[in-house]
Amino acid sequence: MSEIPLPPPLEPVDESWGRALCVVAHPDDMEFGTAAAVARWTGQGKWVGYTMVTSGEAGIDGMEPDEARRVREAEEVASAAVVGVDVVDFLGQPDGILEYGVALRRVLTAEIRRHRPDVVITGNFRDTFGGRNLNQADHIAVGKATLDAVRDAGNRWVFHEQVEEGLEPWGGVKAVWAAGSPDSTHGVDTTDSFDAGVESLKAHQAYIDGLGWENWDPAEFLEGIGRAVGQRMGVAFAASFEVLPMGWGD
Ligand SMILES: [Zn+2]
Repeated sequence: MSEIPLPPPLEPVDESWGRALCVVAHPDDMEFGTAAAVARWTGQGKWVGYTMVTSGEAGIDGMEPDEARRVREAEEVASAAVVGVDVVDFLGQPDGILEYGVALRRVLTAEIRRHRPDVVITGNFRDTFGGRNLNQADHIAVGKATLDAVRDAGNRWVFHEQVEEGLEPWGGVKAVWAAGSPDSTHGVDTTDSFDAGVESLKAHQAYIDGLGWENWDPAEFLEGIGRAVGQRMGVAFAASFEVLPMGWGD
């Protein structure tokens, strides 16, 4: 009888920061596991802002993009409010067909220069979520471009037109954290803020209805993920992150 190896333990993330900007492709990306961690941090008095690169307008099969954009932006604003986030920016990039490259880095750099965060949180940008669960193209493009934009933001000669228009360079981001990565190294205990995370996912009712998953229960779904990560930290529920330090030799 062979034993299945347990996933490695996760180290608690460094929470000695004041401002975090979460940069994700779609409304709902934060709510599938990370929002409970956000609720914990806003509860500690930290500032957390959300940047939605698209408005998820191509995400509901039975709804035209113009209508879906309006519905999904409203759901995301409500969802963010549940976990103490009152700044949600929508960058209006095209849902489903984002391209990694200079154009995407430019808009993300402006966001980072505008909000001047200590930590930037993005979604998993590896090829899979583990096993054969394939990742999605927009997530990969956004994660990679975010990592680059954090560096671009500190260099006044990259996207210099933004500096000329009054956005100061910002090189203060200590690390980028990719949520839910199969290469996660760290975790956050979300036991006390778990319920807020569930409520924030439930705010995406039109999107959830549009998925057409019968009898799908947001609480049950988040419990499954949260417990599996929690086991790696010795707590009931947790959220996982791949921590990418932005210094050299950290
Ligand atoms: Zn997504």
